[in-house]
Amino acid sequence: MNDPRWCRWHKGIGPDTALVGVIETGSGPGGMLYACSRCRKRHGLTPLVDHPADSDGSPSDYPRVRT
Ligand SMILES: [Zn+2]
Repeated sequence: MNDPRWCRWHKGIGPDTALVGVIETGSGPGGMLYACSRCRKRHGLTPLVDHPADSDGSPSDYPRVRT
């Protein structure tokens, strides 16, 4: 069961978010990035649990979302 979380891609709360990546910030634990199902489909995001074994954990469309 997924809790409503902040969707990084549409910048709002999504009801069906999934963790799609973890960003290393260099200090602290880094960022946990969640995306709702609509944004996952739209941006081709893969849930972190489905990333390939050699993934560094960043979202599949990163760094396009980098600001
Ligand atoms: Zn979204």
